Amino acid sequence: MKRLARIFLAFLILAGLWLALKPTLGNRRIPFLPIHWSQYLDLVDFWFNFGAFMILAVVAWLAISPGSHLRHAAALVLSAITAGNVLVEQVQRGIPGRAMDLADVLAGFIGTLMGIVIGFAIQLYTIHKREGSKPQVLFVDQTGRLGGAELMLLDIAAARAADSAVLLFQDGEFREALDEAKVETRVFALGEHAVAVDKQAGLRRIFHIVPELIERVLQTAMLAREFDVVYANTAKALVIAGPASFLARRRLVFHLHDIVSDSHFSTMNRFALIGSANAFAHAVIANSEATKQAFLSAGGSVEHLSVVPNGFKLTDTRSTENDLQDLRKHLSLPEHAWTVLMAGRLTPWKGQHVLLKALREVPEAHAIFLGDALFTDEDRQYARELRETAAEPSLAGRVHFVGFRKDTATFFDLANVIVHASVIAEPFGRVIVEGMLAAKPVIATRAGGAAEILTHDQTGLFVSPNDAKELANALRRLHADRTLAHHLATTACEAAREAYGLDAVRSKIEHVIQSCTPTASTPSLSNLQHAEILP
Ligand code: UDP
Repeated sequence: MKRLARIFLAFLILAGLWLALKPTLGNRRIPFLPIHWSQYLDLVDFWFNFGAFMILAVVAWLAISPGSHLRHAAALVLSAITAGNVLVEQVQRGIPGRAMDLADVLAGFIGTLMGIVIGFAIQLYTIHKREGSKPQVLFVDQTGRLGGAELMLLDIAAARAADSAVLLFQDGEFREALDEAKVETRVFALGEHAVAVDKQAGLRRIFHIVPELIERVLQTAMLAREFDVVYANTAKALVIAGPASFLARRRLVFHLHDIVSDSHFSTMNRFALIGSANAFAHAVIANSEATKQAFLSAGGSVEHLSVVPNGFKLTDTRSTENDLQDLRKHLSLPEHAWTVLMAGRLTPWKGQHVLLKALREVPEAHAIFLGDALFTDEDRQYARELRETAAEPSLAGRVHFVGFRKDTATFFDLANVIVHASVIAEPFGRVIVEGMLAAKPVIATRAGGAAEILTHDQTGLFVSPNDAKELANALRRLHADRTLAHHLATTACEAAREAYGLDAVRSKIEHVIQSCTPTASTPSLSNLQHAEILP
């Protein structure tokens, strides 16, 4: 089509120049038509120009067929055709009976714009779908960093690598991990300003990135045409993948990993998330009952809403004594140090500062902080403050920041206790389950999804969010009562193996994907409620 369009474009340009520049006069402007037809055409000159330039732009767009840089391609077509039009009008001034006509230039400009839109639509709807034994899924996630939502997606996509691709809007270690898992990836990188827009961003910051967002929507729509289903894994991904799936005429699954409330999102972002989900999502998967309820309370009204928690690989392989010794040496941890592990990105709402406060009252404890500031300047400032606090005399030498690590298992094996200290409701809390699966006692804050994972005094201990005293008491309790610690750990491990095995979770997600394929009948609510598993 591209070659044909190029030939046709060359013909159109030559024919257009001939028609425009040949020295014709007044009524005999179009010599092969009867005069009164020509007069009539003069009356509709504006629309004649509009149509001619629209056809020219359609053909020019198809001749270029841009796969990326759509904004540049549109600017190129628009400016080249308009400049050509103005030039021809200028030359026409020198031809007897012709004059510069600004209305023609305007008609050409609007016609070209319309032609670009039509050219894009033709390009979009002639893209062919991939074939495969399973539904072809385009997963979309905005970040290149590895957070909880990305780790979950990595496991889902890796299991159906032959029938999936992951589209990211930022490059990074997530893409590398997907490459390692042999999952096809595409990166449509967003610019610096767009990446910096976080869940709390207001209208002004969002307004600045609108042209870039539109371009990503169009690019995503083109890619989505190759797939059966689009699967948005994060809120920002939804805002782009939602309209893209609509344009591509593909069904959309939205995996909700966030509590949609004002403590996590600005009003504007909440509005965009709920609006996109309601308008475009065919099915929504919430990662906990808490995220589901928050979604509904915020106005989410998707017909097919199910709860599927995160899944985890169940393994019996744990670190050897040598591995643990090496790690101790690497961290300069004393041989018998009683160690508390907190894993997760460094950000104020995850509550690392609460653990530091509690540690002042538990002098026998060492703490390991696994994770880094991933997303915002505020997080990076918070990470600096944490390090400053950890250098205080009451804590110095007992707090170990190790940054982000992919190999987290040895850290969990080394720890005596796992702490989760989020100060606001946690959507799910993967680290809690990871601690349980490592057969370690877990202390977590009683809020959001975390509150659904543990049973107090049976599979873990709950403390109130933002209460360092209560956390210190819980730590002292586990330090003093090793039998309790052991009991909580073994019961928790069994419960987690039962509720969070990856295979079961994958098949529930596959069920939702299947129900969104074009051949599937609209899923009944009762069907999808099979996917609901509440631990
Ligand atoms: N994690 C990791 N490396 C680190 C710190 C954390 O791989 O250095 C993992 C951690 O094991 C967990 C995930 O990041 O699987 C964090 O998920 P969680 O649900 O706790 O928090 P989220 O990032 O989703 O808010």
